[in-house]
Amino acid sequence: MFQQAPPALGNQYHDDRVLRSYLARVLPADVLRDVEESLVEMGRLAGGELYELQLADRLNEPTLTQWDAWGNRVDKIELTPLWRVAERIAAEHGVVATAYEQRHGSLSRVHQCALAYLFTPSTDIYSCPLAMTDGAARTLLTSGNQKLIERAVPHLITRDPQQFWTAGQWMTELTGGSDVGLSETVAKEVDGQFRLYGRKWFTSAISSQIALTLARPEGNPPGGRGLALFYLETRDDDGHPRNIVINRLKDKLGTRKVPTAELTLDGTPAQLVRGPTDGVRNIAPLLNITRLWNGISAVSLMRRGVALASDYARKRVAFGAPLSEKPLHRDTLATLEAETEAAFHLAFYVAELTGRSETGEISEEDALLLRVLTPVMKLITGKQAVVVASEVLEMFGGAGYVEDTGLPVLLRDSQVLPIWEGTTNVLALDTLRVKHGLKQIEAAVARCLDDVGDPRLANAARIARSALDHASSWLSTTDQPTLEAGARRFALTLGRTMELALLIKYAHWSNEHESARRFATSAIDFIVDHDGL
Ligand SMILES: Cc1cc2nc3c(=O)[nH]c(=O)nc-3n(C[C@H](O)[C@H](O)[C@H](O)COP(=O)(O)OP(=O)(O)OC[C@H]3O[C@@H](n4cnc5c(N)ncnc54)[C@H](O)[C@@H]3O)c2cc1C
Repeated sequence: MFQQAPPALGNQYHDDRVLRSYLARVLPADVLRDVEESLVEMGRLAGGELYELQLADRLNEPTLTQWDAWGNRVDKIELTPLWRVAERIAAEHGVVATAYEQRHGSLSRVHQCALAYLFTPSTDIYSCPLAMTDGAARTLLTSGNQKLIERAVPHLITRDPQQFWTAGQWMTELTGGSDVGLSETVAKEVDGQFRLYGRKWFTSAISSQIALTLARPEGNPPGGRGLALFYLETRDDDGHPRNIVINRLKDKLGTRKVPTAELTLDGTPAQLVRGPTDGVRNIAPLLNITRLWNGISAVSLMRRGVALASDYARKRVAFGAPLSEKPLHRDTLATLEAETEAAFHLAFYVAELTGRSETGEISEEDALLLRVLTPVMKLITGKQAVVVASEVLEMFGGAGYVEDTGLPVLLRDSQVLPIWEGTTNVLALDTLRVKHGLKQIEAAVARCLDDVGDPRLANAARIARSALDHASSWLSTTDQPTLEAGARRFALTLGRTMELALLIKYAHWSNEHESARRFATSAIDFIVDHDGL
């Protein structure tokens, strides 16, 4: 009887042509030699033990136990076996720590993102607590609050699993996740100690030891400026929540291993991170880091889908030959590869800029470029991840729709990427707000294209330049409603143009032109002229 061989994964570092080739381009040879062992090991885990554990853990979900047998409120969270292993491996392999140890200066951020990229697709969004942990470490370090830095940062960036803490980020309330200025949580100061009262509506990775959150000190004005950024520790030494009631865990479409809770803060002790106002501004370093993680996660899930679909195409036979020999199936796969590669280069470019900004080796222009590319990269890669995941499932036919193949979770988990850490529209409006953002992207695109004289890439370069020209002429309008209405099309155009330019630069360096040429034939320019609507 016929038996279908399932898709399989090898060492996810060795098998990733794009990652290896990219690292060979951006890392000096001695740095690559130094970091490669850690990537080979993470690639082995991701394609081996962790992947097997992920498949075995498929039906497990975190649980909330609100009461013990004797009527005490305990609000205990139990994680699944995969997540418990993921936490240990993340700490031991420095998936957060690498960025702070800075063995290779600004390039440590690239190294860390490569580790996260390999680790993420086999650990069912354990990237979520890691992203917030990384963001909390960066925010505390930026705050200059020495007491909190000494108290928490060593735990957030340690490699010792026994000492390792993760962080939550509690912003969203019922009143709004985008418009957090509406937050209702109040901070009351009694005898020099702040206590928080309010309801937080989405709090992911509620098993974390600490959280950064927003609350309004009594007497502060309404709006974002009147909020302050607070640090709190979630449980006392006996493991009891510190005046925090976990009302329930969310029943979500995806990210089901992530315990996302609704909370009531009922006098939770908290400390100001950096002054009694401007909380939204002060939490920005955290959001920049979690948005970078969002992009890296998006690319990593795309890459996982493509890896599985490519392997399956070699094994699945239809109409007399493996799918991998069918021109149309190959063409579809190549399109997914091009999308993935484009997203990869943009996400890692933002990692490079982030690394340089963290070590102070960034010019004023590139700091502005990072400011505009962070939301652009987050929004475009989130959208690409959903499209690629959906197409990957179809590449498996009916099997892609069947849960115990482990494939549908790719689509469900990808769908969160455009929503959390800023929705597409909210980030598009943010992109529009960055003064001279377009100018910086124009300069960055020009740098990518300047040395590329190869006629085989000329058409792709022309498409990139023309899309930017179109965006620039569109931006000249001063009509605010028109600008707002077109913000998404503007941001998508900037994102795909930057991706195309990076692909072209890379194609020129590597002499591998397929993805750049193919990506250039996809939609790059989304701008609709003002008289077109
Ligand atoms: C699985 C999951 C986990 C989460 N974990 C956390 C967490 O740990 N911590 C946390 O703080 N939050 C978390 N969130 C919340 C998430 O960040 C918010 O859901 C998100 O920011 C959107 O906020 P909202 O749900 O209030 O939607 P709204 O702000 O009500 O937005 C609704 C829609 O309106 C659009 N919109 C809003 N303003 C505008 C505008 N000016 N112009 C055009 N369109 C606009 C948005 O794009 C969106 O499409 C999580 C969400 C999910 C799904």
